[in-house]
Amino acid sequence: MDRRPIIAGNWKMNKTVGEALSLVRDLRSLVSMVRDRVEVVVAPPFTALHPVGKALEDSNIGLAGQNCHWEPSGAYTGEISAPMLKEAGCTYVILGHSERRQYFGETDETVNRRALSAVKYGLVPILCIGETLKERESNQTLEVVRRQVRGALAGFAAAEVARFVIAYEPVWAIGTGKTATSDQAQEVHAFIREQLVELYDRRTADHVRIQYGGSVKPDNAADLLSKPDVDGALVGGASLKAADFAAIVKAAP
Ligand code: PEP
Repeated sequence: MDRRPIIAGNWKMNKTVGEALSLVRDLRSLVSMVRDRVEVVVAPPFTALHPVGKALEDSNIGLAGQNCHWEPSGAYTGEISAPMLKEAGCTYVILGHSERRQYFGETDETVNRRALSAVKYGLVPILCIGETLKERESNQTLEVVRRQVRGALAGFAAAEVARFVIAYEPVWAIGTGKTATSDQAQEVHAFIREQLVELYDRRTADHVRIQYGGSVKPDNAADLLSKPDVDGALVGGASLKAADFAAIVKAAP
């Protein structure tokens, strides 16, 4: 199955509008040579989405939000809705990131509700899942991932899920400098794909792109991305420097 690699940069709570515009100006020229061979996406903070979207017009870089609420509008102070992200120029939205789960009380159920709204308003979810160090050390990795995949995908049809991106991000590897080995990543990615076969069918499972995330850097990206079920990367820290992010994009097979 030919899945186009997708490399996404999660900027988290970093970059003012001015800094964001300077970063994408550099990035635009650095990644233009991969053309359509690799899909490149950036997820700036909400305040920078619209200007960055404008700056990326006619480029090969797409835009993602870092979260969205399950209602389209209403009394939810501090939240952003899926149609708002769509209007700002987003194609994707990151959902269920471990920082959202850890610091803001996200659960499999709220991730699922947010995903349902995202799809309803024309966004493609980048669904983040992954185990903590404690869970890995007590051999619960596959069970946790299984629960998170099934929880997030409740109520979706196969045709919708086929377009999703799933990001396997072991929590112990995020922002820590510790990366899963490419074999550890491949094992979990293959397991996630098997879950999709069980829930839907082989054809759907073969369409879904599964990114690895967790301290991906220019020097470990090629090894991780060489694995058959690793279809891309979700990059945090290294996406804040144009040269590093571009090097990761170019490492995609
Ligand atoms: C992330 O935030 O999704 C992430 C993987 O961060 P980092 O690359 O910094 O570990």
